[in-house]
Amino acid sequence: MLKTIAAFDRIGEENAFAVLARANALIAQGRDVINLGIGQPDFRTPDHIVEAAIKALRDGHHGYTAANGIVPLREAVAADLHKRYKVEVSPDEVMIMPGGKPTMFMAILMFGEPGVEIMYPDPGFPIYRSMIEFTGATPVPVPVREKNGFAFSAEETLSLITQKTRLLILNSPANPTGGVTPKSEVDRLVAGLEKFPDLAIMSDEIYDQMVYDGESHVCLLSYPSIRDRLILLNGWSKTYAMTGWRLGYAVWPGKLYDYARKLAVNLHSCVNASAQYAGLAALTGPQDEVHRMVAEFDKRRKIVVEGLNKLPGVSCAVPKGAFYAFPNVSKTGWKAKPLASSLLEEAGVAIIGGPDFGILGEGYVRLSYANSTENILKALDRMGEFLKELAHLTRLILRSRRSEATAASRRMRRPVPQIL
Ligand code: PLP
Repeated sequence: MLKTIAAFDRIGEENAFAVLARANALIAQGRDVINLGIGQPDFRTPDHIVEAAIKALRDGHHGYTAANGIVPLREAVAADLHKRYKVEVSPDEVMIMPGGKPTMFMAILMFGEPGVEIMYPDPGFPIYRSMIEFTGATPVPVPVREKNGFAFSAEETLSLITQKTRLLILNSPANPTGGVTPKSEVDRLVAGLEKFPDLAIMSDEIYDQMVYDGESHVCLLSYPSIRDRLILLNGWSKTYAMTGWRLGYAVWPGKLYDYARKLAVNLHSCVNASAQYAGLAALTGPQDEVHRMVAEFDKRRKIVVEGLNKLPGVSCAVPKGAFYAFPNVSKTGWKAKPLASSLLEEAGVAIIGGPDFGILGEGYVRLSYANSTENILKALDRMGEFLKELAHLTRLILRSRRSEATAASRRMRRPVPQIL
């Protein structure tokens, strides 16, 4: 019997990948499935970025690089942060990473151990909690509420900090809600955090370029009072449609930088060399494609929200960032996960149930609008048809006519709704 450590029984995963696999399996069987499940831009990586990677390989950049990344790329990241947020970052604080995820992996590993607490947004990106549990630390969810536009509340966040809290994870613009926390709330949070100088903060800003309605992104690096304990997570995946390249970066404070560099040496040695040259072209080249993508997401965002709000039992707050809508489906009479899986299996629309993002995700589903307008409209139609049938069954159940509902659901080949 192999004896592995117990931590591996606690590690979780991201259900979006399981839904993607199921959607692809259905497609392989000849089913017509529209995928609004996975969170990745449906655009191609801009040509000049692809060309830069090809040129790098032709120029002989095929070997190992420094574990923390090539100097010109670290300089370009620092310059980009300065250009966009007017913050001073030394290239020596920047580490190039194989995607955005490894930064959260490393940061949580640095602070998590049994007996300590790590705070993370709920609903939030599932890997935060998974990694916290892996380390044996106690996960402390910070509620992200619809009534606050899915922004985090400074007051509530501060009230959850204890003597045991080591790390606070923040994410705005947020996955899965599309929530953007306004500057006034971030100001209040940072002012409160000044009373907890031993608390580290990881700010996941991977969607920083995707904010709408004239909002502007608040980069946590712009607060000097927390700079010495702030880890910034960002990357190329979403902004430049580069999810498969595996390219991200972190800004690490003080001694954490060297810990992360050593972890990188132990784990992956360095990031793919040609991808780093591609990342350099992305940051230093024209940004028109980024603006075009964001404008297109904005257009689809409006279509999705309008369409969702017309569906029976569904209401959708307007997301201010990222490329997700997080509609409230509690009035459909269904729990979110069975609803999401029935929509995939029966109506050919892949979405993710809110509970896959935390306990407070019940009653919601996540749709990624990183898909064509045509597909989005088709998906909304299919959801509408499906939900109308469900509404009929739910009405029968509510009138205590369960046997009729069961017979009707059999006839319609629909599962009996699970009333919340
Ligand atoms: N952080 C958030 C909030 C995300 O939604 C994602 C991807 O979905 C990541 C980080 C990971 O990004 P990457 O694909 O670069 O690892």
